[in-house]
Amino acid sequence: MTLFSKYRAVLFPIITGLLYYLGAYVGVHFAALESGIVVLWPPNAVLLAALLSQPPRSWWPLVLMVMVAEVLADVPVFTVTQALLFGAINITECMVAAGLIRYWISGDLDWNEPRDVSIFLVTAFFIAAPLAAVGGASVYTFLLTSDTAFLTFWRLWWIGDATGLVILTPFLHMLFSTGLKVRGASLVWPVQPEMAAAWVFGLVACFLVFSWNLHSEAYMVLTPLVVLVAPIWVAIRFGPFAASFMATAIALYAAFATAAGAGPFIQGDQDQSALLAQEFVVLFTVLVLYVAAFVHQDRRKSHELRRALSEVRQLNEVLEERVQLRTRELFQANERLQLLAMTDELTGIPNRRHMKSLGEEEVRRSQRSQRPFAVMLLDIDYFKQVNDRYGHAIGDLSLKAFADAIASSLRSVDRFGRWGGEEFMIIVPDSDQVDLSYLSEKLLECIREVSVPVDDHRHNLTASIGVAEWHGASFDKLVSGADDALYRAKEKGRDRVEFNPCCLEAAGKGV
Ligand code: GH3
Ligand code: MG
Ligand code: MG
Repeated sequence: MTLFSKYRAVLFPIITGLLYYLGAYVGVHFAALESGIVVLWPPNAVLLAALLSQPPRSWWPLVLMVMVAEVLADVPVFTVTQALLFGAINITECMVAAGLIRYWISGDLDWNEPRDVSIFLVTAFFIAAPLAAVGGASVYTFLLTSDTAFLTFWRLWWIGDATGLVILTPFLHMLFSTGLKVRGASLVWPVQPEMAAAWVFGLVACFLVFSWNLHSEAYMVLTPLVVLVAPIWVAIRFGPFAASFMATAIALYAAFATAAGAGPFIQGDQDQSALLAQEFVVLFTVLVLYVAAFVHQDRRKSHELRRALSEVRQLNEVLEERVQLRTRELFQANERLQLLAMTDELTGIPNRRHMKSLGEEEVRRSQRSQRPFAVMLLDIDYFKQVNDRYGHAIGDLSLKAFADAIASSLRSVDRFGRWGGEEFMIIVPDSDQVDLSYLSEKLLECIREVSVPVDDHRHNLTASIGVAEWHGASFDKLVSGADDALYRAKEKGRDRVEFNPCCLEAAGKGV
């Protein structure tokens, strides 16, 4: 095989020439009826398949070898001039066909494409062969003495040539263009049991249909269509190459059998027998070629569809992952935003809005459990002076130091936040008056210890606290009660705590 590849440029034209010669020999000796009518003419298919498998620049060696083969095959019967004329006609026919097919397909002929199959059939059967037949009939009519009419010659030449082209070119072209090695394995020996079964079936059908003479007593009435089953089976299961191989074999069998006077196409008139056999083998081959091409095309499309679907599915998965990631990010951003919306920027503790919602929640909880809680409002004493004396920055620093000190001296259940300006709030759950007094004193003490460094000294803070205990009132009422108490604490000299006992607006009491 490697040797063949290496010397392909030389070997391929020689092989083409040999096959052409063989085709002509077979055509004359086995495919011709007694009258000289050739059921199918194989050599042109060899040349067309060779031309289709080579780029046009490599056509000339093929043409040369074919001309030599033509002369060698013809000379015993015809003169060299006549042989050269026949060669020229056949070569022109194949070059026209190959050129047109290449032009219309704009690339390499693909037997898996129904469109390519159609282009080949139309070109070979209806353009190249009838055109060449004009030349062939002219040689016979004008150069050779013959009684047969020009149109009769033309028709015989056309159909014989076209039949040969249709039956043999697909198989030979696939053989030439896809390489002998790979294809050869399935060609020489049908290794797969299913393929072997199909071959056995096909050959038995051929034998039964074509081996009996119409006039023999042993003739069995069996429709020639039986031979279609095996190649169509192979076309569906194994594709165009295997199918065309089998179709070619069966078509040749049918042609040779008819030429030998056997099979269902034998009529009294030999011309009629040839025509029937030709019609059958052409239609048979065309059908097999189309079935193989359509099945393969369909398979390829569904394969492409499956691939596209899996790509879409993969893309979808990627997209879903991205959506999940974005959703997570959005959720986190939202959480951050919510936290920001609930947090005081300066001190980092809950802001007024957050404290209000916590307070309302606490009211609902206490309504259910009937356990008391308290709200404490803390207001830094003379804070304006801090700002005025030391500047706003020191004021801010003091607020932060104040908030840190309070936060560190509270229980985890207590909720501490900035109510506004230098005013802070603590929500104290589960505590009685004694606990609250204790806590307040502790906080006042803690605040006194807050000292903010200012230039060369430290500034200390004090604060006043107003406390209101919940006894069924709304949160707003509770806050205003705490505010009243805070006001009193300020009035009574600051740095102290005052309680508001009047928040007894129990639900339904309307206080
Ligand atoms: P009182 O003892 O009666 O509470 O006197 P006060 O000066 O603390 O009371 P007032 O309500 O008159 O002053 C509060 C001051 O707090 C006014 C404002 O400049 C200051 N303040 C409010 N918020 C901020 C803040 O975020 N940063 C700073 N630096 N100062 C603030
Ligand atoms: Mg104030
Ligand atoms: Mg104040």
